[in-house]
Amino acid sequence: MNIQSQIIALIRAQCTDWRFAAESYAALTHVITRTLEFDGYRFILQCNPSRIRSSAANVDKQAIKERPCFLCHRPVEQKQVSYLPNYHILVNPFPIFPQHLTIPDIRHVDQQIGGRIGDLLSLAKDLNSFVLLYNGPAAGASAPDHFHFQAGNKGMLPVEMEYEAYRHQTPLYEDASGRILSMENYLRKTILFHSANSRWMMQQVERLLGILQTFQPEEDDAKINIICFYDAKGWHLSVFPRQAHRPSQFYETGDKQILFSPGAVDFGGLLVLPREEDFYKLTNDDVSDMFSQLTLADDTWFRLKASIQSTNHPYNS
Ligand SMILES: [Zn+2]
Repeated sequence: MNIQSQIIALIRAQCTDWRFAAESYAALTHVITRTLEFDGYRFILQCNPSRIRSSAANVDKQAIKERPCFLCHRPVEQKQVSYLPNYHILVNPFPIFPQHLTIPDIRHVDQQIGGRIGDLLSLAKDLNSFVLLYNGPAAGASAPDHFHFQAGNKGMLPVEMEYEAYRHQTPLYEDASGRILSMENYLRKTILFHSANSRWMMQQVERLLGILQTFQPEEDDAKINIICFYDAKGWHLSVFPRQAHRPSQFYETGDKQILFSPGAVDFGGLLVLPREEDFYKLTNDDVSDMFSQLTLADDTWFRLKASIQSTNHPYNS
């Protein structure tokens, strides 16, 4: 049985044998959604109360040190499929997707993406009915002390369709192996990579991570979210560089508060709102305002694009 078939079997078994998961996935079929249309793209809002644990999580270093790691101390009912030498594939018991996986390293090691792009590409190819997700330690990861990817079934994130509109734009960089583009006027600044060559992809994305590190030297790891999937054309990987972890509205009180703590899923266009009041009151202006705080600042964005355009590309050097 290939790995994807094993995963589908795991999801089916966990939703039968693990009562908590069964109830969570049953509840997901009743979540309500609504859509906010923008010029040429959209955001889908999902009202998902079970995500409060993740959205409101205290991820400051002291709090993380003091809590037991939930990726090391797992419920006895939670089973896994092993992947590569270093990963376990688990069913996420707090789903956003009808098929939602958490993919932790088997060791308790920090959430740092450097050196793991090759693993991400392998997972995306082997789990090609899924979209792979990565949240940086200061960009939405609820376990910044334990490395993990996530994956959700394809067909849920608006960006999966919307990136197509950018395919024919002038790339920032292109060679025989692949293209690097930027998505402009998309609320969140996005660097897109397309290639059917995994070595090229790995080297180009690692190069971008290196550039970002020089822009954010105070961060433990690049403040980014990544979405990656594989299809007949190869890999499609989006990097969303960030300036803020949470918008100011998160820290407000009363009516002004919006409990929105975004990660890769939200940058992919699916906004997860655990509180019903936020789900109903959110406007296009709120979304624009929050993403303007979260996405990379203009001056850094221009410097980043200039660095990508420079000719010092590792694959050719
Ligand atoms: Zn751990």
